[in-house]
Amino acid sequence: MDWDEPIDSGTVPDDGSSFDAIVVGGGPGGSAAAAFLAMKGAKVLLLEKAIYPRDKTCGDAVGGKSLKHVEELGIKDILEETPHFRVDGIVFGAPNGKEVRIALPEEEVEQREAGYSLPRRQFDTLLFRNANEKVLEKGGAVIQGFIVKRVHIENDAVTGISGVHEKMEYRFNAPLTIGAAGYTCPVAKAVTGHHDEPMVDKDHYCGAYREYWTGVEGCNDWKGSIEIHFIDGVIPGYFWIFPVGNGVVNVGIGMVITEMDKQKVKLRGLQEWVIKEDAKFSKRFANAKMIKKSGKGFQLPFGSPRKKAPSFQPRRSAMAGAICVGDAASLVDPFTGEGIGNALLSAKLASDLFDLEKHREGLPSEIADEYQHKLWGELSAELTNSYKLQRLVKKKWLMNFFIGRAVKKEELQRALTDMIASKEAQGQFHSKWWMIKTLLF
Ligand SMILES: Cc1cc2nc3c(=O)[nH]c(=O)nc-3n(C[C@H](O)[C@H](O)[C@H](O)COP(=O)(O)OP(=O)(O)OC[C@H]3O[C@@H](n4cnc5c(N)ncnc54)[C@H](O)[C@@H]3O)c2cc1C
Repeated sequence: MDWDEPIDSGTVPDDGSSFDAIVVGGGPGGSAAAAFLAMKGAKVLLLEKAIYPRDKTCGDAVGGKSLKHVEELGIKDILEETPHFRVDGIVFGAPNGKEVRIALPEEEVEQREAGYSLPRRQFDTLLFRNANEKVLEKGGAVIQGFIVKRVHIENDAVTGISGVHEKMEYRFNAPLTIGAAGYTCPVAKAVTGHHDEPMVDKDHYCGAYREYWTGVEGCNDWKGSIEIHFIDGVIPGYFWIFPVGNGVVNVGIGMVITEMDKQKVKLRGLQEWVIKEDAKFSKRFANAKMIKKSGKGFQLPFGSPRKKAPSFQPRRSAMAGAICVGDAASLVDPFTGEGIGNALLSAKLASDLFDLEKHREGLPSEIADEYQHKLWGELSAELTNSYKLQRLVKKKWLMNFFIGRAVKKEELQRALTDMIASKEAQGQFHSKWWMIKTLLF
């Protein structure tokens, strides 16, 4: 399939036009929200700063949670028709160099539910193309190359946005504005700012750097493992090697921003050091080549619980007239760095709560609160567990010991497989008795 073709979004609506919903940002969260809203009959305006196909700095791993929502959007078959790397396991590497491979559940790999990795340029284009089609079909509009600059708030409710397209200024209005513009989303800024609450928390924001390489030794072309390595000098953080198909490998490094500041590290330099100097990786990269201009840095807003959240966890993400989804709501998993699944999940929840008839005069603040309660109700257990794991892996000796035991103990490997497949299973990692029994005996 020619997923790489430009996407025709039709004509630009008149300045001052009104819609049922405006979606700011056409990444996975925004494309899914726009598509879900159009599927329930809403006239949507989808606004995206870039022009598709566009790149997005990411590890490119699309987990099982994402695939479930991709299926609901009706594009799983189309995704499978385009080239992708099928993930069937995860390799974890300890600071002392030991590695354990945890297989993903076989039935899920068989049924194509376990996970893929493929360039975001490709994944996001498929999602945006789908949203574009569905929105236009229902009489809505899509504008690429549109930068949202201002969010309008009247009587404590968001009523619309203003922005620029091809040097012309536009204003659009709607009873619901979805903020889906990632970690610098103007809607998220307006929602948190209006309530005098912080948007950025460096203890819960992660810096990350990614490059594409070819010729990395030990990586398969179309099916195999993705790798996460906890390396001496990179902890607390990790180095990843994720094949994305056709011999191309996404290689990157990430670390919580307060730790980067403390250690005064620059991720690009750190990655260069790992690839050139680390005994194990310098061998694997000896004949590898970096794809030119593929090195890019970006930030991940984690969904870990905040110590003294002024209102909602992980932070305020909605108010009358507006709901934020995905990175704009700070929902990235603080252990794995996965954010696509939660972007799609929050987009579905937001569109489910919007009632076309009842909320014609504006999404009420009670529904905004309901969204935030439901979202945290759904995600709190897994995000809290992941946060605990993120803190555990800071301890080098513990990682060496844990991975050392996992290499030898099949029971631990099976438990890790379950943990990756089901976030609920992570709970047992916090049971002291389970830990002692499994690690020591
Ligand atoms: C290095 C790195 C590695 C990662 N690895 C993984 C991974 O392997 N798996 C995973 O699941 N997640 C990963 N993540 C997290 C994942 O990338 C995000 O969680 C995910 O992209 C969130 O989707 P989103 O739609 O909320 O935001 P985004 O994908 O950021 O999309 C936001 C969109 O809004 C547009 N936009 C921005 N500002 C404006 C504006 N003012 N007006 C209009 N449009 C605007 C942008 O152009 C963009 O298209 C990684 C992140 C990083 C940085």
